[in-house]
Amino acid sequence: MGRMTATPAPTPESAPATPSAADRPKRVLLAAPRGYCAGVDRAVIAVEKALEQYGAPVYVRHEIVHNKYVVQTLERKGAIFVDQATEVPPGNIVMFSAHGVAPTVHEEARRGRLATIDATCPLVTKVHKEAVRYANEDFDILLIGHEGHEEVIGTSGEAPDHIQLVDGPEDVAKVEVRDPSKVVWLSQTTLSVDETMETVDALKDKFPQLLSPPSDDICYATQNRQTAIKELAGQAELVIVVGSKNSSNSIRMVEVAKQAGVPAAYLVDFASEIDEAWLEGVTSVGLSSGASVPDVLVQEVLEWLAQRGYADVELVKTADEHLTFSLPKELRRDLRAEAAELVKE
Ligand code: SF4
Repeated sequence: MGRMTATPAPTPESAPATPSAADRPKRVLLAAPRGYCAGVDRAVIAVEKALEQYGAPVYVRHEIVHNKYVVQTLERKGAIFVDQATEVPPGNIVMFSAHGVAPTVHEEARRGRLATIDATCPLVTKVHKEAVRYANEDFDILLIGHEGHEEVIGTSGEAPDHIQLVDGPEDVAKVEVRDPSKVVWLSQTTLSVDETMETVDALKDKFPQLLSPPSDDICYATQNRQTAIKELAGQAELVIVVGSKNSSNSIRMVEVAKQAGVPAAYLVDFASEIDEAWLEGVTSVGLSSGASVPDVLVQEVLEWLAQRGYADVELVKTADEHLTFSLPKELRRDLRAEAAELVKE
């Protein structure tokens, strides 16, 4: 019989210790999808192509997309951003941003003898068309969105006599309509999905015959980025969203992270804005970026975190995105004409 050796009962000293948060390897949970959506990609390329095609300057009404870095980069290439089409000297080109404009802005450009390129995201145009259609059918349209946001101003301008803005569930009490059986809701494309449904539920309590739009107005990119952030938030102690302070979809991502229970979530334009104190006691950092953010800015944050011990990067993927949009029709027409000239030469 061989010698039996008794396995000693684990003592508190010899029992494998559960690693404390400080011992666990530091990591970054990187969201996918994140960053540029199809509408932003198209708008930025449209400005670049217009600069190549027509030469500088190309005037752009409002920020082409809500991102500081993108705007500064395009300015360096010769884009001039203006608040109103009326500021553009006659005979020039003005481009309209991805957020869309009211018909009165097209009219202003015509009066100012400006050539226009409309880089409105096709998913915003879809909401404009819904507004026009319901206004023609004499519906009262309740547009859920944030007061003062460019997209809301543009959509409201399609049917100002029929649209009223509802800025969250707390606004519902003051909504009055002409005929409660002819009411429809539409929404800004970049809202929080959950909050919007709260507002819709409150509106339905007040107007049981409220009609819903034929398809979601909150766009695929906004929804996908919020889903990914929720997934990260459950596993991270800190979430960083790269995006500008005037970017609606980026702000919503920070809100969604907080609502999903992450202890801390911040919005930064650049890595240099991250405060080292945010990392105290943090093992897992969730990282994502808004729909108007080029990935170079996320890469800078990854480098910043790697220098502080967060070198392991795990991709947290919740969806694949393949949507692309063709360039604005005015540009396609001119680029085709130029290609035809080159073929002749
Ligand atoms: S966030 Fe959505 S609606 Fe806005 S530009 Fe991107 S795809 Fe279009």
